[in-house]
Amino acid sequence: MQTSPRLTRILDAALEGRGPNKDECTYLLELPADSLEASMISAVGDAASRRRFRNQAVILAQIGIETAPCPGACKFCVFGEGHTTFTQSELSLHETLERAAVFTAGGDLYALFLMTMHTFGFERLLGVVDAVRKAIPPATQIVVNLGDFDLAQARRLKGVGVDGAYHVVRLREGTDTSLDPELRKATIRAIREAGLDWYYCCEPIGPEHSARELVDQIFLGIEYGCFQHAAMRRVYLPQSPLAGHGQITERRLAQVVAVVALASLGCPETRNIAVHEPNLLGLTAGANAVYAEAGANPRDVEKDTEGHRGLDVAGCRKMFYEAGFTALLHGDGAASDLNAASLRKEP
Ligand code: SF4
Repeated sequence: MQTSPRLTRILDAALEGRGPNKDECTYLLELPADSLEASMISAVGDAASRRRFRNQAVILAQIGIETAPCPGACKFCVFGEGHTTFTQSELSLHETLERAAVFTAGGDLYALFLMTMHTFGFERLLGVVDAVRKAIPPATQIVVNLGDFDLAQARRLKGVGVDGAYHVVRLREGTDTSLDPELRKATIRAIREAGLDWYYCCEPIGPEHSARELVDQIFLGIEYGCFQHAAMRRVYLPQSPLAGHGQITERRLAQVVAVVALASLGCPETRNIAVHEPNLLGLTAGANAVYAEAGANPRDVEKDTEGHRGLDVAGCRKMFYEAGFTALLHGDGAASDLNAASLRKEP
């Protein structure tokens, strides 16, 4: 079998723990998704990640606690002001706690994410976090997915029990969104400075994005030291302004996951690699984290994604098992075996 000497050099180095640089990642992402070379990249991404993360998988869950026409106006999101059909609504604290109880019941959840729109009531959110923190097992961490906030707010979030925050400078931020990329970066710096784990992602990937655009976004996560790196494709939403571009395949997404996993070898802060939405190709290309989802979801036209696009914890557990992972990592650092018997656990 003959492949390019450049590809062999990059993949050999990755297997020795040296991640590819930006030019090398661009080359890897320019290879066709259906090529032998792309399959080799995924295979090495998979091997490197399993070795790095000891074949342990991470289950996360997200509850969208409100919906509204969002001033972020992101052209890829169902809630974007100007094209959304959603009106203002929010989960009550009781509903939020009920969903948190379901997600955490089996004891396998690493972290529970609470998601709002770009603008949100900060004091209300602190109250929700405080109540959720008291209600869920101590071993499950809490992560927030909000609009921009400053260092003082980041410290207050930490003070009520938040462990981490998801925050991304998205592909074509400021062009396909109404948000300021510099403000997004300032929030990321606040997250890091407050000592919160910073969850990042190369998203939302569409067919129109060049390899170089993807690489620049991937490396922002590495340069700022992300706790979680990831890749997410943009889901085709017929009513969204970007619908005309279509959607990449899971196979192409797996290629990006693999490049994220390899590039992240150069980021000692990275503890896991996620793929959104959960899928087996991503979990055999370097990802070891997926999200169960309930409530509002920017990729779903249903008001409650649970039972629709959103997977539950049992579904995530099964997907990890099928992908060959042998343990689940919990939020307190302990791990439990993942085997055929544990698949029978509820929920
Ligand atoms: S992706 Fe987030 S910020 Fe953008 S419109 Fe949707 S909810 Fe708002």
